[in-house]
Amino acid sequence: MPTPLATLRTSLAELSDLATIQQNIHWDHQVVMPPRGASLRAEQLATMERVLHERATAPELGTLLARAASEVEGRDEGDDDAAIVRVAQRDYDKAVRVPADLRAGLARAGALGHTAWLEARARGDWSIFAPHLEGILELKRRYVDCFPEVDEPYDALLDDYEPHMRSSQVRALFAELKAGLVPLVRAIGERAGPDDGSLMHAAGAFPRARQEALVRSVVERVGFDPDGWRLDVAVHPFALGLGTRDIRITTRYDEDYLGMALYGALHETGHGLYEEGSAPSLERTTLAGGVSLGVHESQSRLWENNVGRSRPFMDFLLPRLREAFPERFGAVDGDALYRAVNVVAPSLIRVEADEVTYGLHIIIRFELEQEMLAGTIAIDDLPDAWNARYHEYLGVEVPDLLHGVLQDVHWSEGILGYFPTYQLGNVIAAQLAARAHTDLDGFDALVAAGDFAPLLAWLREHVHRGGRKLPPVETIERAIGGPLDVNVFLDYLRAKFGPIYGLEPGALG
Ligand code: ZN
Repeated sequence: MPTPLATLRTSLAELSDLATIQQNIHWDHQVVMPPRGASLRAEQLATMERVLHERATAPELGTLLARAASEVEGRDEGDDDAAIVRVAQRDYDKAVRVPADLRAGLARAGALGHTAWLEARARGDWSIFAPHLEGILELKRRYVDCFPEVDEPYDALLDDYEPHMRSSQVRALFAELKAGLVPLVRAIGERAGPDDGSLMHAAGAFPRARQEALVRSVVERVGFDPDGWRLDVAVHPFALGLGTRDIRITTRYDEDYLGMALYGALHETGHGLYEEGSAPSLERTTLAGGVSLGVHESQSRLWENNVGRSRPFMDFLLPRLREAFPERFGAVDGDALYRAVNVVAPSLIRVEADEVTYGLHIIIRFELEQEMLAGTIAIDDLPDAWNARYHEYLGVEVPDLLHGVLQDVHWSEGILGYFPTYQLGNVIAAQLAARAHTDLDGFDALVAAGDFAPLLAWLREHVHRGGRKLPPVETIERAIGGPLDVNVFLDYLRAKFGPIYGLEPGALG
């Protein structure tokens, strides 16, 4: 007779396999499926979702967890089995709280909301989407009611993406961040930029095949196992791990703009490396993969920005750019390239925002989400509230809904509580990069030489290996040797962009 723990491990391994199969058909859907397959694929994905949910909430699993818990009682906190039982129990408790009809209602509202969002965008008409958002909020409040122990409603939503994090913690971090960012953005905005980034933009200057070769050579050098990854094209780029030995990253190519594919691929590489890096012993357990979306985003941002937009990285990148596009980069030096990939400009669209202004886009969404959930803002007033905050924080005027409140897909699909994780990722990335810089001798010289192995090994040891074993904040605090601190992120921005924009230290807020 296998022990309860052994039976639990088998059951969780099958759950992990099913989730991976679902991811696999999702990847296929996004990357290679012919359009005619769409309607059948939607059925297949819905069936997989139902099967997974049935398994994840089966009463037998609850019984098995209870029996396995007594088997691992007294074991060391770092023990794999003890962690598996603990994390699986938390997943199970969360899954069984939400009634099946509410889950189905949320899925349906998200699908209809997405369609309405597309139509509202096409017609520039908020009233097409507003009733759907009202309905989604109503369901979200019912969802929150499934977790009566939370301090405040938003906590229940945030926990789905950033486990254990509370809204009050995010509010405190973001208040400090806003106080630092608003004056910094203003100071930069008042300077004529030293560069408009035009080096990276020109009609037809970047043929796709040459971009793809460049992207492959850069990503390869950063360091996937050569036999364990793929690069493909997707309209909305993403990365996923089908286990640790099969990493799929995607990017998209714009022949007029080199930054899209190159920095998009570096971003997804960071996500992919994290998925690849779980310890082999965690494969097919509850513990493999990323511990939270904030920590996941820290990995993508670290490679994209803290490394990929650093001055030393330009010394690695420039020879490759010269080889791929000699007519464009033949006479360019590293300093010019550095300025071109670090243009700061307050703008309307979050996904195009630079490192400095990005956080303000997130703070606006976080504030509005809390107000929507609390019912302190009417949905009809949301577009105006959005525009007023863009004026106040970023000093920009929103011309229409597409460049305003209808730009992001998240709310239309019922995804609320997700946005803060993007900016948490930026803060964590700055702290990890600072710590790795201290720990690794000659960090800048390594990056300049394209020797990324020491940094990757550092991330493997301090962040990747443990997967979901420790809660996210604990994972990060152990890695950086202290608490989350937005001042490290703000100091990083000041130290980097102050010199680029010729700002006096006193002008940096
Ligand atoms: Zn990301």
